Amino acid sequence: MPLTIVRNDITKMECDAIVNAANNSLLGGGGVDGAIHRAAGPKLLEECRTLGGCDTGKAKITGGYELPAKYVIHTVGPIWQGGSHGERELLASCYRESLALAAERGCESVAFPLISAGAYGYPRPEALRVAMDTCSEFLMEHDMMVYIVVFDRDSLFVSEKLFADIRRYVDDNYVSEHTDRSRRKMFSLLGNLAAAKSESAPVDAAMPMAAAMFAAEECCESAVPDDLEKAMAQIDESFSQMLLRKIDEKGLTDAQCYKKANIDRKLFSKIRSDVHYKPKKITVIAFAAALELSIDETRDMLMKAGFALSHSSKFDIIIEYFITHGRYDIIEINEALFAFDQPLIGG
Ligand code: ADP
Repeated sequence: MPLTIVRNDITKMECDAIVNAANNSLLGGGGVDGAIHRAAGPKLLEECRTLGGCDTGKAKITGGYELPAKYVIHTVGPIWQGGSHGERELLASCYRESLALAAERGCESVAFPLISAGAYGYPRPEALRVAMDTCSEFLMEHDMMVYIVVFDRDSLFVSEKLFADIRRYVDDNYVSEHTDRSRRKMFSLLGNLAAAKSESAPVDAAMPMAAAMFAAEECCESAVPDDLEKAMAQIDESFSQMLLRKIDEKGLTDAQCYKKANIDRKLFSKIRSDVHYKPKKITVIAFAAALELSIDETRDMLMKAGFALSHSSKFDIIIEYFITHGRYDIIEINEALFAFDQPLIGG
C-alpha cells in the first residue's frame, strides 16, 4: 500500500527517511522535534546548526544518526491562525518539499508526523486530509512508500458528523455472529465454489462443486437458488478477469485504477499476469472503490476472491456504508477505517 496511516512513535520507524515538524531555527524544540533530537543524539543538532534555519513550508535534509532512519527531513509547518492565512497551501508545501527531497536522495520509504497538528494548532482532521491528499498526489507520479504516523491514541481524524453517521450506520446494521452466520456461510461456500474452478485454489478451498451447492442450499434455504444461479453464470470469470474487464468498462488505464486504489504497481502486475491470483480482501475492496462499483458488483468481485461482506464485522459495515452512499474516495474511507481502529484498504 503506497500510502498508509499508522499509530507509532516516529522515532521508531524503520524508513529511509523520517520527517521532523521543526521550527524556523531548526535548533530543536518540543513535541516530535524534541523526540527526534533525543533519539538521534547530539550530532543531529550539530548538523542542524550548519543549515541556517528553514522557512515555513520549506524542507531541509540531514543524516539520521542514531535513528533507524537514514535521513531526517526537517520541515516547518504553518501556525494555525484560523485557516485564512494560507495555512493549507503552506502545509501542503511542507509535504511536497519533503517528498521531493526524499525522492532526490533515492528514498523508497518516508514517514511523516502530522505536521502542525500539535503546538502549531492545525485542526487534526484537516491536517490529516492535507497530508493524505498531498502525498497521494505525489504518489501518482512516484513509487514510494509513505507512512503518516499518528501518535495520539484518541484524537478524532474524520469530521464529527461523518464519525457520528458511520457509528449510527454500524449500530443500525450490526448483527450478532449467530444471526449472520448462515449468510456468511453461503458466501463462503459460493467463494469456495469459485475457488474450486480455479487451478490455483488452495486444497482446502477446493470443495467438490456438488457438495458445496448442497451445503449452500442446506444453510440458506430460499435465498440460495437466485444467488447461486447468478454465481454459477459468472463462475468462469476469475477475480483478475473481472477486474480487468471492469477497468476497461470504466474507461480507466491500469495505472489510473491501481493508483486510485492505493495499490502498488508490482502487486497490480502480479494480479494482471496471474488469472487465478488470490488477492486479500482489503485489495479487492480497494479496487471496488477505485472502480466505483455498486454494492452488488462489490459483492460479486469479493465472491470471486472467496470473500463476502458480513453484518457481524464492523469493517465490512463501514465499507458497505461508503459504497451504498456512493462515497468512493479511498483516502476518506481509510481515514474513517483508521478512526474506527479497523484495517485500511489497499494493497
Ligand atoms: P507542530 O509544532 O508542527 O504542531 P508538534 O511536534 O507539536 O509539531 O506536533 C506535531 C504532531 O506530532 C502532533 O500530532 C503530535 O501529537 C505528534 N507527535 C509528537 N510526538 C510524536 C512522536 N514521537 N511520533 C509521532 N508523532 C508525534
